Amino acid sequence: MNYIIVDLEATCWERSAILPQLKREQSPNEIIEIGAVCIDQNKNLLGEIDLFVQPKVHPKLSAFCIDLTSITQELVDFAPMFPDALQQFQNWIKNFGEEFILCSWGFYDRVQFENDCKLHKLNTDWLHHHISLKHQYGKIKNIKPIGMKSALQKEKFSLDGTHHRGLDDAKNISKIFVKYFDEWDKGTRGA
Ligand code: AMP
Ligand code: MG
Repeated sequence: MNYIIVDLEATCWERSAILPQLKREQSPNEIIEIGAVCIDQNKNLLGEIDLFVQPKVHPKLSAFCIDLTSITQELVDFAPMFPDALQQFQNWIKNFGEEFILCSWGFYDRVQFENDCKLHKLNTDWLHHHISLKHQYGKIKNIKPIGMKSALQKEKFSLDGTHHRGLDDAKNISKIFVKYFDEWDKGTRGA
């Protein structure tokens, strides 16, 4: 069994300016970066991946999104669309073996993958094996779920790289994943 620690970045707008004239389904947030690391059952780091994705509905990134994520317009302009990027991501996962669990800090990443798969009419079955490390971390520490940055601070781990970048976030989350490796409930019963 391998563990894919994944973190997504997506198109976004300043909360007050979320294209108010459009309904939510007409202005979806779309994945623009897939960052992940693969860790095996002996806690070895098997590999990492960083893919950019060109959004379909709103190909032009907002200034807010560029500022938040540091992902530039050029990076997404020259990137594949979601179906190709997802294929690359799934091929990368399968390089290490067929059995895997997706792990992310919260449910956001699973839901975002699901939304993009639906937008592009792709299968979502592969998302079923997922756990939220954020919610499980809360249970392990007997606290309410907290953000990745707060959890790193609590563990006295540094936040390396750039926050809100997929691969850097995934690597930072993986420090917590490895530290509590034996304590995660690796079934897929919700959290
Ligand atoms: P994160 O994994 O925390 O970097 O966030 C993933 C995605 O959530 C970002 O790429 C944004 O699309 C969205 N997001 C995160 N923080 C904010 C924020 N403060 N305002 C609007 N969207 C956000
Ligand atoms: Mg992130």
